[in-house]
Amino acid sequence: MQSEIDLLQGLNDKQLQAVTLPHVSALILAGAGSGKTRVLTTRIAWLIQTSQTSPMGLMAVTFTNKAAKEMLTRLTSMLPINTRGMWAGTFHGLCNRMLRAHYREAGLPSTFQILDTADQLSAIKRVMKVMNVDDEKYPPKQAMGYINGCKEEGLRADAVDAYDGHSQKLREVYAAYDQQCNREGVADFAELLLRCYELLQREPHIRAHYQQRFQYILVDEFQDTNRLQYLWLKLLGGAHNSIFAVGDDDQSIYAFRGARVGNMSDFQRDFKVENIVKLEENYRSHSNILDAANAIISNNSNRLGKNLWTSAGKGEPIRIYEAYNDTDESQFIVDEVNMLQSEGVPLSDIALLYRSNAQSRILEHSLFSANIPYRVYGGLRFFERAEVKHALAYIRLIANANDDTALLRIINFPPRGIGARGLEQLQEAARQNECSLWQAATNKVGEGTLGSKGLDGFVALIRHMVDQTYGITLGEVAEMVINLSGLMAHYQNDKEGEDRVENLQELVTAAVAFSKQDLGNHHNMEEDADLMTQFLNHASLEAGDHQADVGHEALQLMTVHAAKGLEFHSVFIGGVEEGLFPHEQAAYENGGLEEERRLMYVAVTRARQRLYLSYAQSRMLHGQVRYGIASRFIDEIPEALTKRLNSKPAAKTYATGGQYTPAKSTQASYPFKIGQGVRHGKFGEGVIVSYEGNASDLAVKVNFGSAGLKTLMLEYARLEKI
Ligand code: ATP
Ligand code: MG
Repeated sequence: MQSEIDLLQGLNDKQLQAVTLPHVSALILAGAGSGKTRVLTTRIAWLIQTSQTSPMGLMAVTFTNKAAKEMLTRLTSMLPINTRGMWAGTFHGLCNRMLRAHYREAGLPSTFQILDTADQLSAIKRVMKVMNVDDEKYPPKQAMGYINGCKEEGLRADAVDAYDGHSQKLREVYAAYDQQCNREGVADFAELLLRCYELLQREPHIRAHYQQRFQYILVDEFQDTNRLQYLWLKLLGGAHNSIFAVGDDDQSIYAFRGARVGNMSDFQRDFKVENIVKLEENYRSHSNILDAANAIISNNSNRLGKNLWTSAGKGEPIRIYEAYNDTDESQFIVDEVNMLQSEGVPLSDIALLYRSNAQSRILEHSLFSANIPYRVYGGLRFFERAEVKHALAYIRLIANANDDTALLRIINFPPRGIGARGLEQLQEAARQNECSLWQAATNKVGEGTLGSKGLDGFVALIRHMVDQTYGITLGEVAEMVINLSGLMAHYQNDKEGEDRVENLQELVTAAVAFSKQDLGNHHNMEEDADLMTQFLNHASLEAGDHQADVGHEALQLMTVHAAKGLEFHSVFIGGVEEGLFPHEQAAYENGGLEEERRLMYVAVTRARQRLYLSYAQSRMLHGQVRYGIASRFIDEIPEALTKRLNSKPAAKTYATGGQYTPAKSTQASYPFKIGQGVRHGKFGEGVIVSYEGNASDLAVKVNFGSAGLKTLMLEYARLEKI
């Protein structure tokens, strides 16, 4: 058995103080890489080891599911204990778990499904259609932002203030959307939290149960909690529990999702926090990197103020590369990655960070060509891929036939002859009878109306699937669904469907693995243990997470947001240009630039040894070439900490006056105008939609009408003007 000394060994005085605080609420306020997450994990181990509580008495809130898993692994390596009784997860995951356990009191069906963002948007569109709301005046995305914003503030439609016609309409949409969700028995992400909060507020015995149980609540990345999350914590923490909050105001990067740095001061006030521990020693990075981060963030106002230092020595200079275009930039990165690898740095310890998702495509392209394995975080993840979502929609219908979102996704996929008109009639029938689409469909069976043959077949198919489900395993359900639905056959017949077939097969594997694994987070005796529902939830939560599993042999590509809390030997930050990073959108938002700067601070502080910043004089974005200049954030780094690596001078596109002239190659290489009609040997006649890539490997997207949208390499496509 390990001794107490072992656990606390190596901590500095401040860390030690934080880890061993008594049963009070405390705020650990410290900069990046100062050991906040380590302190939080060590405190959990210490509390258990010294028998101050059992794992049952602990709740740890992390920012991603992956962070929760990592924490549990770390704990079991520190202590020979079973962490099963401990609740560790994201706010969403923890609320989901409570709602499952008390679904009746929460007013939800036991099998309630979680809507991910795409599902939510389509549900909102349906509501707006029923209500005849003009979607140009009220873009559905905006309505979604409004609804989630209200929920994140803890407000239901009847509690929201609306001063003008516009906001009154949005409020009506919100109310109708909530009704629709209740009818269908589904909940979006924000709803999980709000409903759980309302449950705890409304039901004193449930609240008391959890308050007594979770004597210790620990929250990582506290600076990014929103209003509702804070209120939820406040309810659970009650008057007597210890809330141990860990955060860094300089790393608050989710204002766009309602994060409130103000929660830090509210917390100090509401919980009468007397213990504010500041950690100032950084254990992650060398001082060149740290000094650069400190210099950048010092340009922000209204900081709580912290000093960070390291005893690690200067380390390497920050490498800055000015590329002449995006291809050059990604080629540079590929070359450096190869070099790092030959120096023995594992690929999984190297990260490529970018501000916006769209930037990953060209990097991916170069990595793919160079045969470097990579993994993209936060892009289209497995559970978000269309074919996987189709298959899951069938499973969702088996679990809950009233799930309209799922039904709409697959009622005519693979195609079974239910046309837009048939669907319209079905929706009308559902509207009139105020019932779900499934109920409307079963009423229509045998009516002999338009398109009803397809509909009869669909109803029979789903009923058959439900029958087949009894007594088989989850893996067998998945297998049955992909075959009986016709999805497998559909993609097998599609020439480009190979990946999709593989993904469907992978879904069966995922289902088998899910039923085998110790359910950890999801497993709870109080819960209705419906494996299928749990699997569906797992899929929605995973898809909604900002992070994928860390692969061992792959280079890590992700947005800066997704990189929060992580660290790597070497970090590349690409596209450090005005307009990209800081993002041009930031100029229009209050405090936008400061939030961008915090993002830059997060990005820079991910690196342990080596940091690269690169920018390109020109790049293709959204199908257009744009010309960029270095980001102001580069100028904010003292020259002495950096080393400039220059691009190949021959390719420079500056004109003598310091003005940009468009690179000839990019202009001249567009043989067709957008909208130009063209003919292709195989696909027939089409229209040029956009260009992708660069002069050397320019691809063109063409709409061939019935043959579909195709992306072709210009060099080989042999398009003729018509
Ligand atoms: P972030 O703000 O980025 O989330 P953090 O404050 O949570 O960072 P950690 O990730 O906990 O920091 O720690 C950063 C690194 O420093 C980790 O590799 C951790 O193991 C190491 N570290 C922390 N404290 C010590 C210590 N006392 N001795 C040695 N290494 C330490
Ligand atoms: Mg951390």
